[in-house]
Amino acid sequence: TTAILWFRRDLRLDDNPALQAALRAHERLLPVYIHAPDEAAPWQPGAASRWWLHHSLTALQAQLRARGVELQLARGDSLAVLRDLLRTSGAEAVYWNRQYEPAAIARDTRIKQALREDGCAAHSFNASLFVEPWDIRTGQGGPYRVFTPYWRNARAQLQPRPGAAAPARITPCSVNARHAVADLALLPRIAWDAGLRESWRPGAAGAAEALEDFCAGALRGYREQRDWPAQAGTSRLSPHLHFGEISPAQILWKLEETGRDAGAAWREAAEPFLRELGWRDFSHHLLYHFPHTPLQNLNPQFDAFPWREPDAQQLQAWQRGRTGIPIVDAGLRELWHTGWMHNRVRMLVASFLCKNLRLHWLHGARWFWDTLVDADLANNTQGWQWTAGSGADAAPYFRIFNPVTQGERFDPDGAYVRRWLPELAGQGFKSIHSPWREPALLARSGYPQPLVDLAASREEALAAYQAMRSMG
Ligand code: FAD
Repeated sequence: TTAILWFRRDLRLDDNPALQAALRAHERLLPVYIHAPDEAAPWQPGAASRWWLHHSLTALQAQLRARGVELQLARGDSLAVLRDLLRTSGAEAVYWNRQYEPAAIARDTRIKQALREDGCAAHSFNASLFVEPWDIRTGQGGPYRVFTPYWRNARAQLQPRPGAAAPARITPCSVNARHAVADLALLPRIAWDAGLRESWRPGAAGAAEALEDFCAGALRGYREQRDWPAQAGTSRLSPHLHFGEISPAQILWKLEETGRDAGAAWREAAEPFLRELGWRDFSHHLLYHFPHTPLQNLNPQFDAFPWREPDAQQLQAWQRGRTGIPIVDAGLRELWHTGWMHNRVRMLVASFLCKNLRLHWLHGARWFWDTLVDADLANNTQGWQWTAGSGADAAPYFRIFNPVTQGERFDPDGAYVRRWLPELAGQGFKSIHSPWREPALLARSGYPQPLVDLAASREEALAAYQAMRSMG
């Protein structure tokens, strides 16, 4: 018999539970990827994400080909494509790994129901989280809203286990195949992707290499260096994780295996890294239990927050990295150039947008959505709401980041700022994090004046917060 394996955001062959289950029960496999962006509305994949997807599918296609099977590629309505393939292939069942976005859940529920009504079996699996959102509850039986107790509970459940490797040969089923990734038209028509190509290697092999490099290098110093944007102090696994080119379970197993020989200090260093993967699970937990949060505040008190109307010029200055605040601009230019931004700097650019410019966090979330290669509805929503103060377990509102002191603390020699703002390099500023304090040098550099006064806009944000509280 034949099974259809519907690839979605699990673009790997190793430790792929849907693949394993399909091969256990059926002789032949028909793997398919269906590009159906509108099924993710209103969060259709952005441009950077589509770029990644193109290259990741190309890598998956090569991996499958090496095992003797072709990846079917299709566009359009997922159910219609699956039904069509079921008819032409005579397959008896469809296998996939689960997603947790509200639109994906609604679609998958509908498809499962329809396939069963057609007399076709449909099986789904967990391939991307340590703990699925419904498998963990507070003592009172509800969902968690606070990370630390969430992680204490989830961490205690983690069992390192080696994932099953994909077989060397897979028996294909013969159907008329459409297999050019280019047909999906995912790449930009204007070639703006040179910086992305220099920065990344999409696909499972690239993911394994990134993990290997991180375990052999930066992991040991992760606890301190993860906050320093000039250093390659983090794993850069986020886009690989988003597309499922690697699973948290594979990472856990690698940490376990490497930790056996590497000693106690190394194992201790792995813990804060694992905790960040815990934040990823927690974000999915929140998205599942609070599915309105990609568009609405988790904390409804913030519905009364007096956001400013967006001024197109200000918003564009923020997007393009021309706010006049060096660490903020460096981050936004890193994003524009590479499709990724360091976590510390993501917090700073988000705080500047939501607090100093007092623009609604959705303006930032949407920009990130289009430009990040790791754009992920769960993580992005959680990151923006946390920074804006409207989310779960958010930092207290009055703790507004000061980008100058943050820059001086986490980029003390200005290496990060100089890398992304060459116009400020070599000018001899006393502090590169506050160039406006030296007007003559600033004028010569061509770098803009700050969009807003940091101290005054901070006071205005605090006043706005007080106004909101008094309304509640
Ligand atoms: P590492 O430090 O090596 O962490 C390992 C992995 O843990 C990451 O790959 C990621 O999957 C997960 N992780 C780390 N930090 C977080 C976090 N704070 N929340 C959830 N998961 C985390 N991450 C995304 O993957 N997609 C997004 O769209 C996204 N948007 C964000 C928006 C804002 C405003 C903020 C403040 C954070 C956002 N993050 C997002 C979280 C975080 O910045 C990135 O996951 C991280 O920078 C990725 O780099 P890394 O892989 O080197 O991380």
